Amino acid sequence: MTVLVFAEHDGTKIKSKTMATITAAASFSDEIHVLVLASERQSPALTEQAAVIAGVSQVICASADHFSCGLTEDLAAQIIEQMKRHTYSHILMSSSYLGKRVLPYLAGKLNLDCVSDCIVTENDGLGSDFFVRPVYASSLLVVEKITASPKLISIRASTFARAGKQAIPAPITIIPAAPKVSAVTRTAINKAEEVFGIAITRAKIVIGIGRGITKEELPLVEKLASILNAAIGATRAVVEEGLVSSSAMLGQTGKTIAPDLYIAIGISGAIQHLAGVKDSKVIVAINDDLQAPIFQVANYGIVGNAKVIIPQLISALEKTPEEVA
Ligand SMILES: Cc1cc2nc3c(=O)[nH]c(=O)nc-3n(C[C@H](O)[C@H](O)[C@H](O)COP(=O)(O)OP(=O)(O)OC[C@H]3O[C@@H](n4cnc5c(N)ncnc54)[C@H](O)[C@@H]3O)c2cc1C
Repeated sequence: MTVLVFAEHDGTKIKSKTMATITAAASFSDEIHVLVLASERQSPALTEQAAVIAGVSQVICASADHFSCGLTEDLAAQIIEQMKRHTYSHILMSSSYLGKRVLPYLAGKLNLDCVSDCIVTENDGLGSDFFVRPVYASSLLVVEKITASPKLISIRASTFARAGKQAIPAPITIIPAAPKVSAVTRTAINKAEEVFGIAITRAKIVIGIGRGITKEELPLVEKLASILNAAIGATRAVVEEGLVSSSAMLGQTGKTIAPDLYIAIGISGAIQHLAGVKDSKVIVAINDDLQAPIFQVANYGIVGNAKVIIPQLISALEKTPEEVA
C-alpha cells in the first residue's frame, strides 16, 4: 500500500501544510511518495527539501514551466500519469485552495471517491479507512468510510503535527512532465496571506479583531501585533465594514488557523468565526460583554473595553524585566 502526497510549495519552499499531510499519510502506510511538480528552476531545491521530510520513502518530480501556474487540469494530468506508473491506495493533499480544486477534479475525471477537509484519518487494518470531517461550521462531525481505492483525501493541515526531518534523504525519481492540457496561462502573485506583514496561517500568535474594534483603535492593535510579532485577522463583520481586506477573514468562509495563541478582541464568538480559530492552542478573549459566547471557548478572558485594555497590554509588554520586578 503506497500513499501519494502532492507537495504544495511557493516555488522555493515546501509548505508546512504538506508536512502535516505527510503526518496524516503515515496513518495509512509506511510507503509514502511525494510528488513535486515545479518549473525546471524550482525543482532541485524543492525535491531536496521533500526528500528529508520524515516518513517520505520516495520523491517523484516532474518539471515544466506550466506547473508554476498551478492550474487544476495541468496538475491533475501529471497526477494521473503518476497513477499509471504506480498503484496508490490514497492520494493526499491539504484542504487548501489548491487541494479543494485538484482532488474533486480528479475524483470527477476518474470516478473515484473523495473526502474533503479531514481532521482524523484511521485505518481499520482490514482495508477500510475512516475519515472524520467537520461540517456546518464544525458543529457536527461526519465519519466517512471508504473501501474502494485509490481514495482521494484532503487534510485539514492545522489539526495534524508537521512531519519532522529524516537523516537519510529519500531517493528522488525524475519523470517526464505531461504536456500542458489547460489553454489558460496564469501568473499568481501571492499577496493574499500577508495583510499586515505576517502571514496569518503561519503566525504563532494571531490577533483577531471584531466589531468592537474601530478604525481609531486599529493603530493600537497594529502596535500590539508588532510587539508580539503577531499576524492580524478579523471577523467577517470587520471585513464587511471595509476595515481590513477579505484575506484577513477568519472562520467558516475565511481562513482556518491553529496558532499557539489567539487573542480575540471585540469579537462576540459566532459559531462561523469559531470554526476558523477553535484549534488555537490558547485563546484569550477581550470583550466588554461578560455574556459574549467567546468566553465559553476562551482559556483566558478579560472583561473590559478594548480601548482601555489594549494600551494597558502594550504598556505591560513594553516594560523591561527590571521594571516588572
Ligand atoms: C453563512 C455565514 C458564514 C459566515 N462566515 C463567517 C466567517 O467565516 N467568519 C466570521 O468571523 N464570521 C462569519 N459569519 C458572520 C458571523 O455570524 C458573525 O456575524 C460575525 O462573526 C460577528 O463578528 P463580530 O464578532 O466582529 O461582531 P459582533 O457579533 O457584533 O460582536 C462584537 C463584539 O464586540 C464586543 N465589543 C464591542 N465594543 C467593544 C469594546 N470597545 N471593547 C471590547 N469589546 C467590545 C461586543 O460586546 C460584541 O461581543 C458568517 C455568517 C454566515 C451567515
